[in-house]
Amino acid sequence: MTTQRRGTVLLIEDEDAIADLLRMYCEQEGFRLVHAANGERGIEAVRERDPRAVLLDIGLPGIDGIETCRRIRAISDVPIIMLTARDDEVDKIVGLEVGADDYVTKPFSPREVVARIKAVLRRADEPARVAAVITIGDWDIDSGRREVRHGPDGVYRPTAREFDLLWYLAENRGLVLSRAQILESVWGYDYLGETRTVDVHVRQLRKKIPGIPIETAWGVGYRFEG
Ligand code: CA
Repeated sequence: MTTQRRGTVLLIEDEDAIADLLRMYCEQEGFRLVHAANGERGIEAVRERDPRAVLLDIGLPGIDGIETCRRIRAISDVPIIMLTARDDEVDKIVGLEVGADDYVTKPFSPREVVARIKAVLRRADEPARVAAVITIGDWDIDSGRREVRHGPDGVYRPTAREFDLLWYLAENRGLVLSRAQILESVWGYDYLGETRTVDVHVRQLRKKIPGIPIETAWGVGYRFEG
């Protein structure tokens, strides 16, 4: 296999064992892995190496992963996948809206991480969506402005991923969509492992957009009423 044909992935992680493992899998899949052992070096590497994707550990010496993510976002749109040590950190990342594209909970399988890298790159390569508005009742979901409008004064701007999720539900209004379907369509995953991601994002949407008619279909998934 030709190595490094897929470009550079930057890993910001203080544990060498994890770095070695991920390097092996990334290189097998044709990525070059650049490793930075702390946040400051990672930010420098984003500037100097122009990676196609960043894997970013939360627990880092010096500035932590969340702050590192914010600082990378200030200088680059590179897709960022956070590596979290605990499940509850996922809520924190989403809640803080630091600008990460995705997250994986440790212990993870390197295969899963590589699958996520490929998924974020696929999305990054997709052509921009044609501007359109879906109107459901008194809700307008506007893909050009990436905002949701409701009533005379209600204008909401969810994060990019939250918007994509809402758009997918709205496009399929009235239908119950399973978590697996949602993951596959919105996140581009081709496996059925992680489904909590969907729940976390739905929760965020409900919090940010009061009254948004996303219903839970217990044991199955979600439906946009309309
Ligand atoms: Ca760490």
